[in-house]
Amino acid sequence: MRYSALSVFFNGLRGNSNWAAAWRQPEPKPHYDVLIVGGGGHGLATAYYLAKQHGIRNVAVLEKSWLGAGNIGRNTTIIRSNYLLPGNNPFYELSMKLWEGLEQDFNYNAMVSQRGVLNLYHTDAQRDAYTRRGNAMRLHGVDAELLDREAVRERLPFFDYDNARFPIKGGLLQPRGGSVRHDAVAWGYARGADERGVDIIQHCEVTGIRRENGRVVGVETTKGFIGTNKLALATAGHSSQTARMVDMTLPLESHVLQAFVSEGLKPFIDSVVTYGAGHFYVSQSNKGGLVFGGDIDGYNSYAQRGNLATVEHVAEAGVAMIPSLSRVRVLRSWGGVMDMSMDGSPIIDRTHIDNLYLNAGWCYGGFKATPASGFCFAHLIATGEPHATARAFRLDRFRRGYVIDEKGQGPQPNLH
Ligand SMILES: Cc1cc2nc3c(=O)[nH]c(=O)nc-3n(C[C@H](O)[C@H](O)[C@H](O)COP(=O)(O)OP(=O)(O)OC[C@H]3O[C@@H](n4cnc5c(N)ncnc54)[C@H](O)[C@@H]3O)c2cc1C
Repeated sequence: MRYSALSVFFNGLRGNSNWAAAWRQPEPKPHYDVLIVGGGGHGLATAYYLAKQHGIRNVAVLEKSWLGAGNIGRNTTIIRSNYLLPGNNPFYELSMKLWEGLEQDFNYNAMVSQRGVLNLYHTDAQRDAYTRRGNAMRLHGVDAELLDREAVRERLPFFDYDNARFPIKGGLLQPRGGSVRHDAVAWGYARGADERGVDIIQHCEVTGIRRENGRVVGVETTKGFIGTNKLALATAGHSSQTARMVDMTLPLESHVLQAFVSEGLKPFIDSVVTYGAGHFYVSQSNKGGLVFGGDIDGYNSYAQRGNLATVEHVAEAGVAMIPSLSRVRVLRSWGGVMDMSMDGSPIIDRTHIDNLYLNAGWCYGGFKATPASGFCFAHLIATGEPHATARAFRLDRFRRGYVIDEKGQGPQPNLH
């Protein structure tokens, strides 16, 4: 069924009893051309683009939990393409362009809201670094504007400009950045993939990978063995675990990242804002709640919850930026498991096993990458060749020394 204003109207007249399920609940077939492990944003987007761009429809996505249980349903929904390095910049801009046409493309309201992403700066040195980044963005055709203190104050009058320990001096704005409703992205891709014949199999955990003569022939799952010609891993924070099934050790660590939502407030932040003197980012949802986060918890864990010390650390940075935040109540918080790579950049590549493909290392920036990641991963799986914009995200870059270290922090996942 195609969603439209008219279909909403006429279904409303009939008591909303005629809506079809957004995707089927099939049992797995014995064999697929492509199996994707992980029904998060990246796995579902990959299935969608395999079917849509490449006509490969005999595909299944295997998800151990329910769709949206992982990071795709846990993130703070920020999208942007404000990168400095050539390896990253065109890729994230491809993603931004795909976001801009996504709702029409997959016929689903994902609430793509290009309300702007503003990175505050607090020192002259930081201003120079942001000027350089903004210039690099503009050279790549990405929108960027450097705002002075008064221009920031005009947009955000309730921030602390005068008595702050780290006074705000200005900001780098990407007007096309913003936020997207995260779980609707999973649902939209799932529906679009299902419509094209992809089987989405929830509550089906992959417990082993079967190999014969150096090739993957299928996976052991909680629903039995499923054969495949090609296997694609898109398990985000659990990538080390699934890679270990074929004795691979990845240059990744799994860390917890928390997110927070406050009680509803009148509108006072109209874009996404990041603090430059600490790790804190915030936006205001359509319901009025502040959605914010900060640093990862800094220890390795597969638990989808964080600890209080980090809550305090994040709140401290928030209050330093907006002192009145101290009177706001937090309603909800949760954690997700991040696949932190050693240079802070992702991996979209084949592996040493001919028909095994890997999509991982998204750290805490993988939501904005969802469309481009799926697009490029599907291209790689279908053609055997990396997509031009994802060429830098090779697994062997760590061995060759061609890391893409956007923050220049070296191999320290807790700093990326
Ligand atoms: C609190 C928080 C805030 C974030 N904020 C942002 C943000 O603002 N902007 C941004 O760009 N990014 C953000 N991120 C990062 C982003 O959410 C992730 O990088 C991205 O969602 C990861 O890709 P995914 O959607 O495919 O992951 P997931 O949704 O985690 O998908 C992986 C799936 O694999 C499944 N799986 C694992 N092992 C198996 C198995 N053995 N068998 C079957 N299935 C398996 C898991 O159940 C999971 O559903 C944030 C993350 C968190 C946690």
